[in-house]
Amino acid sequence: RAKQAGRNRCHFFRRDMNEQAVRRLEMEAALREALDRQAAGPRGDAEGEAGFELHYQPQVRLNPYGLHRVEALVRWTHPRWGAVSPMEFVPLAEECGLIDRLDSWVLETSVAQLGRWRAAGVPVPGLAVNVSAVRFARGDLPDQVRSVLAANGIPAADLTLEITERLMMTEEVGAHDALDALHALGVTLSIDDFGTGYSSLSYLKRFPVGELKIDRSFVKELDIDAANRPLVRAIIQIGEALGLTIVAEGVEREAQHRMLEAEGCAIGQGYRFARPMPAAALADWLAAEGRQRVECPPEACFSI
Ligand code: C2E
Ligand code: MG
Ligand code: MG
Ligand code: MG
Repeated sequence: RAKQAGRNRCHFFRRDMNEQAVRRLEMEAALREALDRQAAGPRGDAEGEAGFELHYQPQVRLNPYGLHRVEALVRWTHPRWGAVSPMEFVPLAEECGLIDRLDSWVLETSVAQLGRWRAAGVPVPGLAVNVSAVRFARGDLPDQVRSVLAANGIPAADLTLEITERLMMTEEVGAHDALDALHALGVTLSIDDFGTGYSSLSYLKRFPVGELKIDRSFVKELDIDAANRPLVRAIIQIGEALGLTIVAEGVEREAQHRMLEAEGCAIGQGYRFARPMPAAALADWLAAEGRQRVECPPEACFSI
């Protein structure tokens, strides 16, 4: 396929190239260079050096309230451009064939971090990592996951991979095999941004999915526009019917939190609970959460 052939060359040179295209080209080169520097750096301690860093955002159990796991979110700071949004550089990395290397680094670094938290007595029950659909086409993901978990002493049940609906619609057999192999390992597969991709739900019975993340767009106006509530309720019911965990993303306000709780949503993620933060800040956040809830009735207290 053309897309396959063009994997490492996603751009064409044109005389009338506009500013945006120039930025893309420059960004591709900078990404490539940063990944090269990352690979050349000292293993395990390469964070920061090349401009990549991971932040972690808590996903909390709503009832009884407590930390469920953290999601690793990649950050990139360019010397000249400053912080570049993953909404910009992740799709670019996908188009340019660089996402495999980026996602591999995120997986290795975040699983190692989970090992370090645990060694230091910071009780983090689990980790979620975003994996691009493109990464699944390369067959070595299950092997990489198995070895990175083993190297850091992390049980497979403590790792969740967040994937998009787009992956579920692929006809590539290699990707299907990878999903099965990861499920067999004991890793949870979660559908990120659920409800925004393809409308076919048949993949939910074809593939070993364990979790759905209600997209932020449905949660956004939950407490403002009444039309959102039946949608959110329906997704929660799909989850119940199929035995899937439901995570609501983008929970910003108490009113949204309460509605989700009332609808029986299990897990929430969003600024209401915590923003994505550097690894070093998580222990303090946990301690502050514990202190904040000391006054609550026991069943509402923060627990791990
Ligand atoms: P996502 O996986 O759906 O991650 C959630 C995004 O929502 C994150 O944006 C997070 O910072 C943001 N967010 C969390 N809570 C709230 C909230 O209450 N309100 C609002 N307005 N936003 C909230 P971020 O970090 O900019 O990441 C954007 C997307 O980039 C991610 O969406 C994910 O699709 C992708 N991404 C991030 N890290 C990686 C990675 O390591 N690999 C891959 N393949 N994709 C990644
Ligand atoms: Mg995600
Ligand atoms: Mg999401
Ligand atoms: Mg999203």
